Order: sequence, then structure tokens, then C-alpha cells
Amino acid sequence: MNAPSPNPTGCRDAPLLKERGQREVFCGLTAIVWLHRKMPDAFFLVVGSRTCAHLLQSAAGVMIFAQPRFGTAILEETDLAGMADAQVELDREVERLLSRRPDIRRLFLVGSCPSEVIKLDLEKAAERLSGKHGPHVNVVNFSGSGIETTFTEGEDACLAAMVPDLPGTEARQLVVAGALPDVVEDQMLGLLEGLGIGPVAVLPTASADNPVAVGPNTVFALTQPFLGDTHAALIRRGARHISAPFPFGEEGTTAWLRAIAHEFDVSEERFREVTDAPRDRARRAIAQAGAPLNGKSAFFFPDSQLEIPLARFLTRECGMTALEVGQPYVHRDVVGPDMDLLPAGPVLSEGQDVDKQLDRARAARADLTVCGLGLANPLEAEGLTTKWAIELVFSPIHFYEQAGDLAGLFARPIRRRALLKVAVE
Ligand code: SF4
Repeated sequence: MNAPSPNPTGCRDAPLLKERGQREVFCGLTAIVWLHRKMPDAFFLVVGSRTCAHLLQSAAGVMIFAQPRFGTAILEETDLAGMADAQVELDREVERLLSRRPDIRRLFLVGSCPSEVIKLDLEKAAERLSGKHGPHVNVVNFSGSGIETTFTEGEDACLAAMVPDLPGTEARQLVVAGALPDVVEDQMLGLLEGLGIGPVAVLPTASADNPVAVGPNTVFALTQPFLGDTHAALIRRGARHISAPFPFGEEGTTAWLRAIAHEFDVSEERFREVTDAPRDRARRAIAQAGAPLNGKSAFFFPDSQLEIPLARFLTRECGMTALEVGQPYVHRDVVGPDMDLLPAGPVLSEGQDVDKQLDRARAARADLTVCGLGLANPLEAEGLTTKWAIELVFSPIHFYEQAGDLAGLFARPIRRRALLKVAVE
């Protein structure tokens, strides 16, 4: 099978507008909202403030499980002032939690802005608590703080923190890293199985008893473009990355599968047998759901780290033009193949200086502005049509069967705006 070829007119070498000013994004604690669903035997203990507890409660909504899977160990003023030994208090809280909850097999100590500011050493705490409560409970720490990070980096930090503890293996295998909704993960595994690719392991696994192993004969693919640290951690363990565009839309999914199929020497004939029908379905679904997008322009504020792959999808499969594509961080090793395919022309920006970027968005007046929750309402009030970036992370949007829904998510605000206009007229 032929390897996918890059587009010579893409954006990989385009200059980046780097901005390091004020940013408007959620913090990495947000990722706990989707991570706890993927790891039912895990508990996420945020070491933070009441603000952190409120964020989690409002973002996670009503807890639908018999037992909570996350909580906050609140740092009180005495901790912040250094008057109490926060490590001792943390040990006591963990003791209390684990004695009540023998079902917990993985405990994540999640750092926050306050714990980082007072330099509470959660790595040391995780080592100490693992020694005490292991092997039944593995204690790992990662940071979900909002200092210099964006919300999807919470997942990246969590997965990257797990990688050093994964068992080793010499087996030739594929690891797919990234948390997907279960139904989408099953579709992905079905496609890989149809191609005859295996064994396949998915990080994160649902159970601590069935950990992903990693070693020099492991190749890995990412399903989420925000996994820069996980990418680096897997490479440090000797695994090799299969670089590919991300599986959004028909084209992205096909390119992602093709890169893996190439690695595993799958014949073109078999590839077509497995992908022709879902490709066709995806194309038709995009044409129908994405019709209002054709000929429209888009402006992306940096928020989810999905911006470059999604701009690629919108420009190449939905007929849109990208005016600016902002991403919190641009890891060319990770999003390079999407940049190869993204038609040259948009301003590519990394980081944010929100006031300057708002000025550019107002001047551009794109047909659709993709941005964070905090910016959407004011921009709507100024007559711009917006899409909440965070919704894209919480919706099933990967692979063929979701391609139409992905186009539909972007088309909905444009349709709504057109209807409002008609109603006003
Ligand atoms: S980690 Fe930082 S940004 Fe996130 S809720 Fe806590 S204080 Fe706020």
C-alpha cells in the first residue's frame, strides 16, 4: 500500500504568529469530566481550592454514578500560608478515601493553580502513597492547573503521567492513545480489526488489571491532537509514532487509517474493502449536514488544540475558507500532517493575546467564529456567529460515522443565524 503523500501547498512551513498575552481558556481540571468515564476504577483527587471544586462540580453536572469518581482536597488558608503540613493532611485524606473505597485501583493526585503556587510536591506524595497503598492502588500525579495550559492538556498530562509505569513488552503491537467515547472507540477497533491489524491496545484502559504494555516494537497512533506530552512519553519508552492527519471527516479518517495500514502492510484491496462503504456514507453525510458551510469563512480562537485538524476538515471537506487558525500550542510533530493538508492562506497563530485577537476577529467578521464560552456571547452580541470550541471536545466527532455530525455541529449556528435573520426581517 502507498504511503499518504503531503500536499506541497499546505501550511506546515507557514510562519506562526506567536502571542503570549492574556488567554481565555478553561484549565486542565476540565478533562477529569471525560477521563473519569473512561477509567471506572480510578479516582481523581484534585488538590486545590474551593474554586477548583466549583469548576468541577459545575462542569461535571449531576453525578450519575453510585460512588463519586472525583473530589477536591481543599487547601485552606493555613495550608496556603504554610502554617500546616499539607503533605500530612493529604496522606490523611487519601487514607480516609481508600479505606472507604476499596474499588479504587488508580488514584490520580491532580495539581491545581494553588498547589503549584505553594509548590506542593505531588510527585513526592504520589511516590509515598503508592509505596503505602500499592500494589492494590497505583497513585500517580499530574497537573490540571490553568497556569500556562489549556483544558485539553489535562488529558495529555494524565496519560503522559501513566506512561512511565506501564509494563514493558517486546511484542509488535499498535497502541492508540486518546480518550474517545466508548461507541466511537468500538467503531475504531472494528475498522482496525477489519484491516487485520492487531494486537491493538487503547490508552487509557478501562481497568487497572489490563494495562497497556509498551516497548521498542510498539507503534502508536494518536486520536487527539492535544497529546504532545503523551507522544513524547511513549517515544521515551521506545515506541514509534505513526504520524498522520487526525481522524476527523472522511478524508482525515481515511488518511489516519491508511497510515496505520501502511505500517502493517495491509493491501490496497483489503483497505478498500473495509473503508469504501463507510467512506461513501461519510461523504454523503457531510454533503448533507455541511451544506450551509459551503463558501463560508471561519476564524478559530485558540482553545481546544483541535483547531488545525478541524480547520483542515472544514476547508477541504466542507468548502469553507479559514481566515485565522489559532491553537494554544502548535506541535508540528503531532499536527504536521494536518498542516500539510490545510490550504495555505490563513493566519496561523499560537498562544493568545486576547484583545489583539478580538480586534482581528472583529475586522475579519468571519461567517463562523470558533471560540471559548467566555468570548462567544459578547461576539454574538456584536453580530458574529459563534461555535463553542468546548462542545467539540464533549461531542463524538471522530471517524466515519460521526463525520456528518461534525459538519452539523458547525452548520447549526450558521443555520440558526439565518433563521433569526428571516424572523427579524
Ligand atoms: S486549577 Fe486554577 S484555573 Fe482551574 S479551577 Fe483551580 S484555580 Fe481555577
